[in-house]
Amino acid sequence: MAGARRRSRSPNPVLRHGFDAIRDTFGSVMIPELLHRITGMSLADGTAADITVENGIVTAVDPAGAPGDLHLPGWLLLSAATEPHAHLDKALSWSRVQQAYGDLQTAIDSWLAYAVTMTGKEVYTRSGRALEHYLAHGITTIRTHADVLPGEEPLRGVAALLRLRDEVRDLMDVQVVLLTREDSPDSVVADAVALGVDVLGGCPHLCPDPTAETRRLLDLAERFGLPLDLHTDEQLGADVLSIRELCRQVRARGLQQRVTASHCVSLGSLEPELLAEVIAEVRAAGLGIVSLPITNLYLQGRDHSWSRPRGIPALRALLDAGIDVAAGGDNLRDPFNPMGRADPFETTSLLVTAGHLDEASALAAVTAGGRTVLGLPPSGPAVGSVANFVAVRADSLADVLAGPGDARVVIHGGRLVSRTVVDRKTALSAFAARPL
Ligand SMILES: [Zn+2]
Repeated sequence: MAGARRRSRSPNPVLRHGFDAIRDTFGSVMIPELLHRITGMSLADGTAADITVENGIVTAVDPAGAPGDLHLPGWLLLSAATEPHAHLDKALSWSRVQQAYGDLQTAIDSWLAYAVTMTGKEVYTRSGRALEHYLAHGITTIRTHADVLPGEEPLRGVAALLRLRDEVRDLMDVQVVLLTREDSPDSVVADAVALGVDVLGGCPHLCPDPTAETRRLLDLAERFGLPLDLHTDEQLGADVLSIRELCRQVRARGLQQRVTASHCVSLGSLEPELLAEVIAEVRAAGLGIVSLPITNLYLQGRDHSWSRPRGIPALRALLDAGIDVAAGGDNLRDPFNPMGRADPFETTSLLVTAGHLDEASALAAVTAGGRTVLGLPPSGPAVGSVANFVAVRADSLADVLAGPGDARVVIHGGRLVSRTVVDRKTALSAFAARPL
């Protein structure tokens, strides 16, 4: 059995033409060459495999043989990951915004006070830096929401993110969601659509009349023929269920475009009978659900002085019902979440510990589930899939999901787009080198 045979471990990936040639292409947005054979690594089930790629698509997965363009003995290779719900325009702003740790409303107030003077250039710069973090950790597919900003030129942040999306097009799949506010005029939405946003979004749960706002946003999605991704029920409690109106409206209108409900925090606090009813409605409407553990663990439950609930929907029940579920980090070191590593395996760790998912489901939520919810074809080490991979230095999938080290090799569309090498030496290094 191929997976059982003893293979040499290499601290660094071996690229036939050397990393210096590749390094020269980094530093600005340049397009690395296509790889054809990626060899010597293990797959999630422990088998050793070589992968052949033609024009960014996997054409063969074979037992390990001779070294190819990129040789990865001792590395475990998975599909590259997806961040289904980021806020790049806010990312890495925590230290710039004056505020204390707090709940959702605290974060919104702090953010709006800061954002009124924020420039498009700042959004572009911080977002680009955040993208680099995601890419280095193996996330090559990102859906980011982009605020309609307060102040002059409300689409200045949107324009900055669209420019970034287009500049990195060959390195990452980036989708930009227009995050409307209740008072965003239809003319601003039309302008954003003309600029090229991919998806429409909004926050009905923050409005005095969530039903009216849900309908308005569905009207806009129908008018412009775009998918819809709504911040939905980002509060605890069975009395917060605007998702039911969303399901009703999607079914009544027979919407063909994909509709996603992000957060769905209240789905974690329902009694089983009510939960089953709502899940049946979500399934009938064909909604995708996005869970964002780290941010909703941070924001929610602060008004409970004891027995604090978790801000995570009932993931197992959703998956058992056959609903498409994706998971990600949401905010990244900003007023809504001062923590975060832009790392899919930070999310898998939380899905297991706080969301009580099993290994396979946690991995799927940051890989295949994300691609499905975003309406993209599958990626990973399977024939016919897009050649998006992350390779990690680890002995097993469980070690990866727990949060592996930073050493990663990342491939997108068959191109080597990132590699991180860690040179760790400690007084106990002899233990690390000893085979288990
Ligand atoms: Zn969000």
